[in-house]
Amino acid sequence: MSSNSINNIRVAVLPGDGIGKEITRGAMRVLKTTAGIFGRGVDFSEGEIGGAAIDRYGNPFPEETRDICNNSDAVFLGAVGGPKWDDVPSDIRPERGLLKLRKELGVYANLRPVKIYNSLRDKSPLKESIIGDSLDILIVRELTGGIYFGEKGRREDSAFDILSYSQEEIERIAHKAFTAASKRSKKVTSVDKANVLESSKLWREVVERVAKDYPGVSYEHLYVDNAAMQLVVNPGQFDVILTSNMFGDILSDEASVITGSIGMLPSASIGNNLGLYEPIHGSAPDIAGKGIVNPIAAILSGAMMLRHSFHMEEGAAMIEEAVDNTLKRGYRTIDIHSESTEKIGTEEMISRIIAEIEKIGRR
Ligand code: NAD
Repeated sequence: MSSNSINNIRVAVLPGDGIGKEITRGAMRVLKTTAGIFGRGVDFSEGEIGGAAIDRYGNPFPEETRDICNNSDAVFLGAVGGPKWDDVPSDIRPERGLLKLRKELGVYANLRPVKIYNSLRDKSPLKESIIGDSLDILIVRELTGGIYFGEKGRREDSAFDILSYSQEEIERIAHKAFTAASKRSKKVTSVDKANVLESSKLWREVVERVAKDYPGVSYEHLYVDNAAMQLVVNPGQFDVILTSNMFGDILSDEASVITGSIGMLPSASIGNNLGLYEPIHGSAPDIAGKGIVNPIAAILSGAMMLRHSFHMEEGAAMIEEAVDNTLKRGYRTIDIHSESTEKIGTEEMISRIIAEIEKIGRR
């Protein structure tokens, strides 16, 4: 197949800073291998973001990178930030580049699967009895509205942040959650603070209206304080958690801890156009360049890209199965290593996962 066949998928690749470069390289190798099994080529276009873009262009999200994204079908991001840029002015900090990118792409729905692999149960801080048979939750967080984007300011001796949601903003994220639940265990838990917040009362009304379009999916409402407790006392009750921007920010970080390592967790941010795929961890400057980073969060983010941007469900499932098989065989990077397993580096983990994918592809 020629390298620019119309059958190819076009991916903007933004490695960013620190470990971003190491994990992105691995995730793209996995993506290429998997797409190839299904007769698809991949055209990668690489751009700078975050600190690397500040160094080159003086801007964490330059025009050049925006153009690369807009000429692609999906965007993959490694991670941004690091001590080198801690003292740059706040309006050009590396993280600003990421916020601008999300805004530019209009990705209002952040999907974060939280899964405990059976072979990594001993890495979870939760007791075996609480984890139960398995744990597989999808958090659907509203990403471009709510209190983080409301008017904010200072008065003489006070400060304010406005929390406001429109019906449309709630409706579109609710549809994403119910659609996802209809392909999983068919349950949505909508998390709010409707006993105190007017915006949460509207949130409930809209969720109930949207739920009527999905008769096969059950739903419930939970206050955010209770949801935070339930995540650590009975996480098995959740299938899809639907929530607003700030509640989702806090709950998804809490949920990520129970899986054992931040190096395992992927994410997808989607809207009506291009999707953005990135591991949830940062640029981990403490371990960058040492060859010991866990590439699995990035690799699984690539699987989410195949699923959500290219409707390649089989390819996504193949990557997920390959990761699971590699872990079952006892191969571990340092963050998930235990006494009875074999410690390997980043490159070996990537190669072993690719070997598993090729094996599954030959079945
Ligand atoms: P971090 O996620 O980079 O690291 C937290 C801890 O987890 C570190 O000990 C790190 O070594 C470990 N870790 C992270 N990813 C790992 C992986 N794949 N394999 C093994 N271990 C891993 O968070 P931090 O230290 O608070 O932030 C470091 C930099 O990253 C900061 O500049 C921060 O602003 C930035 N950051 C960026 C993003 C993003 O790009 N989306 C997210 C969070 C933090």
